[in-house]
Amino acid sequence: MGKRIFLASPTMHDQEQAFIKEAFDTNWVAPLGANVDGFEREMAAYLGVGHAAALSAGTAALHLAVKLAGVKPGEPVFCSDLTFSATVNPVSYEGGRQVFIDSERESWNMDPRALEQAFRKYPQCKCVVVANLYGTPAKLDEICAICDEHGAILIEDAAESLSATYHGRQTGTFGRYNAISFNGNKIITTSGGGMLLSDDEAAIQKARFWATQSREPFAWYEHKELGYNYRMSNIIAGIGRGQLLHLDEHRARKKKIYETYQAAFSDLSAISMNPYLAESEPNFWLSCMTVDPAQSAVKPAQIMAALAAENIESRPIWKPMHLQPVFADRDFVTLQPDGHAVGAELFARGLCLPSDIKNTDADMERIIGIIKNLFKA
Ligand SMILES: *Cc1c(COP(=O)(O)O)cnc(C)c1O
Repeated sequence: MGKRIFLASPTMHDQEQAFIKEAFDTNWVAPLGANVDGFEREMAAYLGVGHAAALSAGTAALHLAVKLAGVKPGEPVFCSDLTFSATVNPVSYEGGRQVFIDSERESWNMDPRALEQAFRKYPQCKCVVVANLYGTPAKLDEICAICDEHGAILIEDAAESLSATYHGRQTGTFGRYNAISFNGNKIITTSGGGMLLSDDEAAIQKARFWATQSREPFAWYEHKELGYNYRMSNIIAGIGRGQLLHLDEHRARKKKIYETYQAAFSDLSAISMNPYLAESEPNFWLSCMTVDPAQSAVKPAQIMAALAAENIESRPIWKPMHLQPVFADRDFVTLQPDGHAVGAELFARGLCLPSDIKNTDADMERIIGIIKNLFKA
C-alpha cells in the first residue's frame, strides 16, 4: 500500500518553536503573555481589522460573537445551512433558534435570495451567521446589504477562509463580529485555537472579559456575569505567530493543488470543481469536486472508497444542517422545490479531495490517477 496521503494535516516550520522557546525561557507558559498579545496584534494587522481576541477555539469565538450580538432565548438566527456544525451550535448555547438558509450554486454559500425570503418570513430576525465554505467567500456584498437593510448583525464565520479575499478585502472582516479557527486541519494551525475579530474595541474587551471567567476588578473573586474559560495560552499563541509567517505560502500551495485538480479533470465533463466568484480569491483550503449524475454513474462514496483502499484520505461534503437530527425541529428556507435544496444536492454529489500542502507532484498524480480510472469507459 502506498504512502498515507492526508486530507489536510498540520505543516510546521521552525519559527513556531522559537516563539514557544521564548515563552519557556521567560516561564511565561500561562496565563496569556507576550505571544498572545503579539498574535492578536499581528493577526489583526494581517487582516486589516481593528481588534482581535485569541481564544481556545473558533467555536468559542463564534459563541462570544452570538453573545455580543445579543441573541436571546427563542429568537431566530439565520444561519448557513451547508457548513460544519460549529458554525451554528453557538446559537443554541445562547438559546437562539437557527433558521437554516440554503446555498447558491456559484460559491456554495448562503444564497442572498433565500436570505431575503427568510427576512420576509421572520422580519424580527436580528442576527445572521454566514460561513465561507472550504475557503470560498460567500456573496458578501449582497449579504451585508441585506443585513443592513433589516438592521441585523452579521457574524462572519471565516474559520475555513483565513487569507481569502472578496473584492480584495480579507474575509473575517465583513461581519460586525468575525471568527477564525486554528484547528488542526485548517490552513494554519496552533493544534487548536481561534480568534474573535471586530472593529469594535469595546466588544473585543467584553469578549476577553467573558473569556476569563467574567472576573470583576476586585481584590477577591467577584462575578456579576456568567463567565467562560475561553482564552488562548501563551504557548499556543507562539505556534500561531510562527504559522502566521507562512500563511501566504500555505495559501499559494493550496491554490496550486486546486489548479492541479482542475487541469487534470478538465477533460471529464462529469466532474466539476467547487466554484468561486470572480470578485473573490479563495484560500482553497479544501479542493472539492462534484459528479454530474446525468453524465456519470460514479458516486462520491465510490471515489472515497477507491482512495481509502490506496491509503488516501478524503471526506464527504458537510451534511446540511437542516438534515441533521439534532436540528430536526428547525426551519429551513430554500428557493428550490421540496427535497431539492442546493446544499442537499451538493452533499449527494460531492466530496473533499486530499488538499494537504505537503502533497508532492507524485502524490497528486496518484490521487488523480485513481479518480480518473473510475471514470474510464
Ligand atoms: C473548524 C470550523 C469551526 C470551528 O473551529 P474550532 O476551532 O474547531 O472550534 C467553525 N466553523 C467552521 C466552518 C469550521 O470549519
